[in-house]
Amino acid sequence: MADTSFREWPFFEDRHRALAQAARDWCAAEIGTDGFAEHGDIDADCRSLARKLGAAGWLKQCVPAAFGGANETLDVRSLCLMRETLGYHSGLADFVFAMQGLGSGTLSLFGSDDQKAAWLPKVASGEVLAAFALTEPEAGSDVAALAMRADRDGEAYVLNGEKTYISNGGIAGFYTVFARTGEDGARGISAFLVPADTPGLSIAERIEVIAPHPLARLTLEHCRVPASALIGEENAGFKYAMATLDVFRSTVAAAALGFARRALDEARHRAQSRELFGATLADMPVVQSQLAEMAIDIDAAALLIYRAAWTKDTGAGRVSREAAMAKFHATETAQATIDKAVQIFGGLGVTKGSVPEALYREIRALRIYEGASEVQKLIIARHILSEDAS
Ligand SMILES: Cc1cc2nc3c(=O)[nH]c(=O)nc-3n(C[C@H](O)[C@H](O)[C@H](O)COP(=O)(O)OP(=O)(O)OC[C@H]3O[C@@H](n4cnc5c(N)ncnc54)[C@H](O)[C@@H]3O)c2cc1C
Repeated sequence: MADTSFREWPFFEDRHRALAQAARDWCAAEIGTDGFAEHGDIDADCRSLARKLGAAGWLKQCVPAAFGGANETLDVRSLCLMRETLGYHSGLADFVFAMQGLGSGTLSLFGSDDQKAAWLPKVASGEVLAAFALTEPEAGSDVAALAMRADRDGEAYVLNGEKTYISNGGIAGFYTVFARTGEDGARGISAFLVPADTPGLSIAERIEVIAPHPLARLTLEHCRVPASALIGEENAGFKYAMATLDVFRSTVAAAALGFARRALDEARHRAQSRELFGATLADMPVVQSQLAEMAIDIDAAALLIYRAAWTKDTGAGRVSREAAMAKFHATETAQATIDKAVQIFGGLGVTKGSVPEALYREIRALRIYEGASEVQKLIIARHILSEDAS
């Protein structure tokens, strides 16, 4: 794995360094170098990866200690280190880990003790897969426009509407569903815990994307859940969704960092071994320049990511600006780094089965989900423009 000396930086405590080392050792032994190989049955592979990650104790990072987790509260540095390490070894293993955290995140942060006790230990063991259902066909980047309704009916809520691009859709044991209980806009949205077997919830369509993972469009038709399925307070759902993303956005950047580190390592090995024109690719200044740019972008991304994670963990409250910078920079530069690796590999870089080819597909969606790059820039600009000029 490429230079990791940054782990000695003061962003980390010894427990983080130990976690990172243990995760690297585990990944090397259990996943090895072919974690980006094509998958046959993606659903079965995700279920099996969840059980494996659960048995090894890694999913404990995704839930709080009182409900089977590793830390008192979600620790963003630990989540980032896990995703960086898993991302280096396998896009699918990173995906499974990420969704256990994101899918249960709103519950961890705002759920009742009963809700947490019912689901979080099973998330930590990998027995149950979690999903986060926010996006709708007409409300992607513009989340506050979501239309799914949740109408109160006695001691129940009745949900009606559609969700799309829901990761783990079709294999999740429960969905954290955001639906409208009040006025238009951000203030009328609530969050609900909806078990997958609730009558009225169905998988309308499985969606195939360039880096395969379970993804679906869901319909909820007269889907009745008890009032106790409400997470936190009514009409606070938008705030809860943003707070959940505030924790997990930096981890998307960390996954991109893992992909980028892998791309650099692959490119370095290839450049050192590929002979042409009487030398190796690594002897050519143009290639050296590409490798140098990859390394610079990787270190800059790592700095932004662990700055955001450290800031969150040390009690700063919301870190929208720092997390947006980390996600924007890490995902955009990882795309460029992987593209350089593909170029250094030549024809092999676009050949199915090569690691750069898989990374090239894996990285793309990270610039779109959990806030597209353009949205991250808007968040950063909003912070800049609201700063006191004096
Ligand atoms: C692989 C994958 C997994 C996903 N998993 C989940 C999940 O688990 N749960 C979930 O709820 N959602 C999930 N999503 C949905 C994801 O969050 C949305 O795709 C994303 O929010 C963008 O919404 P959209 O696709 O509707 O694009 P749109 O909102 O239509 O935006 C299209 C493009 O417009 C541009 N754009 C958007 N807003 C602005 C702006 N303000 N200024 C300038 N340009 C702008 C961006 O380039 C953006 O990519 C997933 C998506 C993908 C691809």
